[in-house]
Amino acid sequence: MARVNNWQLGREMSYWYPESRPEKQFAAVFDINKCIACQTCTLACKTTWTSGKGQEYMLWNNVETKPYGFYPLSWDLKLLEMLDGQQWSPDGSTYEGSTIFESAPAGERVLGWRPEDEDYAYPNVGEDDCAGQIDGGASLQMPHMAWFYYLARICNHCTYPACLAACPRGSIYKRPEDGIVLVDQGRCRGYQECVRGCPYKKVFFNPMTGTSEKCIACFPKIEQGLQPQCFVNCIGKIRLAGWISKPGEEREDNPIDYLVRIRKIALPLFPQFGLEPNVYYIPPIHVPTSFTRQMFGPGVDDAIAAYKKAAAEGDDDLTGLLGLFGSTEEVLSRWNRSGETITGFNDKGEEAVRVPLREPVSIRPSYDKLYQITRVNCP
Ligand code: SF4
Ligand code: SF4
Repeated sequence: MARVNNWQLGREMSYWYPESRPEKQFAAVFDINKCIACQTCTLACKTTWTSGKGQEYMLWNNVETKPYGFYPLSWDLKLLEMLDGQQWSPDGSTYEGSTIFESAPAGERVLGWRPEDEDYAYPNVGEDDCAGQIDGGASLQMPHMAWFYYLARICNHCTYPACLAACPRGSIYKRPEDGIVLVDQGRCRGYQECVRGCPYKKVFFNPMTGTSEKCIACFPKIEQGLQPQCFVNCIGKIRLAGWISKPGEEREDNPIDYLVRIRKIALPLFPQFGLEPNVYYIPPIHVPTSFTRQMFGPGVDDAIAAYKKAAAEGDDDLTGLLGLFGSTEEVLSRWNRSGETITGFNDKGEEAVRVPLREPVSIRPSYDKLYQITRVNCP
């Protein structure tokens, strides 16, 4: 085992291979508060990549309702129960528990488990099921007593992938040019150690080909400077793809760096697992943080406070950057705000898109003089 730096844990940790960060690292931010669980992303991926034989059950992108939704069944609960003592230092800066690499049983590389076939049988389990009940006459306050939220998930193209560490044949690799994690279909012999090792259960075994398959971050599009299918088809405009800088090299004009490392409003999924996942979530503001703290780490309270403050007090930079989500098919590697205009730039440094700080709103008079009728206006 090598010692590597995991900035999400605030410490070094043990990993099967030495630290080797790619030239650029594919990364994304998902704003959970905007997801409506329409599953358009799921279908965009399904029809693009997994409509073949043996892929029927595969959802490289899925959207599950938390707290009771899972795909596969109980994917996170099972591992959380296996992983002892997930405590952070009192100030939240350092993870003091063990990662799934550090807790691996003797003779194994990763603490993991392999789902049964039935665990993939219920992709809609727990959908729209609430935590808690509202008594008659009670009013809702923030955070809500009764809550659920939608968690959209793809492969996290982790900096320290457990799928890669677990593969005894070295069939999984992380591309040095963009950090995308792929399975070499020619080398894979279907041992399924990657399925067992990935804590997010984002590798799937294809019984027809006898090999493992997974999300490829739509790399043929990424190579053309375009965002993946699940991003550009997202109805809620919750997603932004880009590049996260190496720790210590973050830039204010990089949209992902700004949200993740500078403003710290987007957080990794289960950072305590130790993979340094590269999909970041703006946590749901209506959910008690006693639940989301375990899922997104100790930064969740500050992230929610910053997000709410931006809306309440008119934080123009943050509000403006959130307006770039879903605004273009191009990957945005740089952005700036000039007054009321937010501009996104592509990988070549060219202007890709321009959005207004606030969408113009027109409110028509409720009384229409021309037709002499009164209409109801909804604000
Ligand atoms: S999310 Fe799972 S499949 Fe994707 S890179 Fe990480 S360990 Fe591998
Ligand atoms: S398309 Fe967007 S809004 Fe719809 S379920 Fe997927 S992530 Fe959520």
